[in-house]
Amino acid sequence: MLGSWQVLRCKSQVFRNLSTTSLKCGSGPKVAVVGGGAAGFYATQQIAKARPDSVIDIFEKLPVPFGLVRFGVAPDHQDVKKCISTFNKVAELPNVNYIGNSTLGKDFSFVDLKRCYDSVLLTYGTDEDRKLGIPGEDLRNVMGARDLVSVYNGLPGYETFPVDLDTDTVVIIGVGNVSIDVARLLLSPVDQLRKFDVTEAWLEKRLTSKVKRVVLVGRRGPLHVSFTIKELREMTKLENTRPILHKEQYLPIQDMLAKLERPRKRLIELLVNTALKEPDAKTAERYNNAKQSWELQLLRSPVEALPGPDGKSVAKLRLAVNIPKGDSVEQTDQIEEIETGLVLRSIGYKSIQADPDIKFDSKKGIVPNEDGRVSPGVYTAGWLGTGPRGVIIDTMNNAFKVAGNVIEDLKGMQEGKPGREGMPHLPGHTTWQDWKKIEQVEEEAGKPKGKLREKLWTVESMLNAIKS
Ligand SMILES: Cc1cc2nc3c(=O)[nH]c(=O)nc-3n(C[C@H](O)[C@H](O)[C@H](O)COP(=O)(O)OP(=O)(O)OC[C@H]3O[C@@H](n4cnc5c(N)ncnc54)[C@H](O)[C@@H]3O)c2cc1C
Repeated sequence: MLGSWQVLRCKSQVFRNLSTTSLKCGSGPKVAVVGGGAAGFYATQQIAKARPDSVIDIFEKLPVPFGLVRFGVAPDHQDVKKCISTFNKVAELPNVNYIGNSTLGKDFSFVDLKRCYDSVLLTYGTDEDRKLGIPGEDLRNVMGARDLVSVYNGLPGYETFPVDLDTDTVVIIGVGNVSIDVARLLLSPVDQLRKFDVTEAWLEKRLTSKVKRVVLVGRRGPLHVSFTIKELREMTKLENTRPILHKEQYLPIQDMLAKLERPRKRLIELLVNTALKEPDAKTAERYNNAKQSWELQLLRSPVEALPGPDGKSVAKLRLAVNIPKGDSVEQTDQIEEIETGLVLRSIGYKSIQADPDIKFDSKKGIVPNEDGRVSPGVYTAGWLGTGPRGVIIDTMNNAFKVAGNVIEDLKGMQEGKPGREGMPHLPGHTTWQDWKKIEQVEEEAGKPKGKLREKLWTVESMLNAIKS
């Protein structure tokens, strides 16, 4: 049997016994955290530390933890994933349980959580990407950048997702770090990617890829790009690839550099220098010999995707030229066309209402809250509460703040609600020990290929690994 409910019961029994002796675990407040991503783990860390008498149960949809840290962050940026060592310590705390393969809105309800837990903290992230809202968006090969991310990062459900790299040019709408990640994963030498935990399916696609040019499209000008300097610098150094930045977009902002504050100033300076300065001889030679390019096409808005002769797959993207107007832009009637066989949108994400009883703002795609407070005893943190903003450190800061409010509201509470013992039976749920087994199987499978790990891609294969 999979990591059984019984095991968890035993663990809580131990807490109760301890509570009558020294540690006071288990009898205190019960906290449910829904979502085992960065926000869930960071909030748990704070609550567990402040209230060692509490029991915190992290409910996660998948058997594997870490959300976007595993399935979003690019595989060649393993240093970003160092936060996992903190999450591992959190999960091993004596008053924390990881309950995987358990989905809010499917296996248990929000009403169940409110009935059984003193605090319910929703951190289930953002599942959907924002649409462009243009004609032709439903054509084949127009998709979310995150779909592609899910293919190279092995998110369950994407095993057979159709991504066609049989095209010279890929267009990415959006100028944030996700767009840069995707451009890099499309252009980096396959041999460099191979050692990380990229899926084999992506490596195979890359081996037969015809992509030579990746165009990043931004609505506003260079002052408003939202990627960070490290990611941009990496792109300027990418092997066999030259950057194409359009000089006329940078000339008007040269004089504004002095007024900008760091670190923004350094980022824009790098952009301006790359666009306007003659590269040194070595770089110039590298750029001249490059067979691939990435291009930043700013002050453009997508207006229509057009099909090719089959009438089904995208073949062209129409862009309207924008002119800067104050802090925003005005769209003109001037239209440009790019021939492309793959269009990726990367203009943000939104959450879903996982259960009809959860308060939800469907326009903003978040659970409405004030500093994480939703209603008495109910909280939200991470991208579900803030929207898809910032990096892991921002998510951490938000989770810490919301956890502070949870702790504040639990002050004085001694005896808690029943916790998971009052919850519906979750027959297929998995435990932290189960995840550790999966991790071991993945690392073993990676070794012969010289990879960090070979991720198990389907939930079924994860459950089989646990059984084995
Ligand atoms: C493609 C991409 C790349 C990124 N790269 C970087 C980077 O390089 N560096 C950086 O600092 N930041 C990066 N970020 C941002 C970073 O990932 C986020 O700041 C952070 O992961 C948000 O954490 P979260 O806990 O709010 O959401 P998530 O990480 O999405 O966690 C939510 C969790 O909830 C689970 N869940 C969903 N629905 C349910 C349900 N109904 N029941 C139970 N569980 C559920 C999900 O499976 C998931 O594990 C990136 C983001 C993306 C999208």
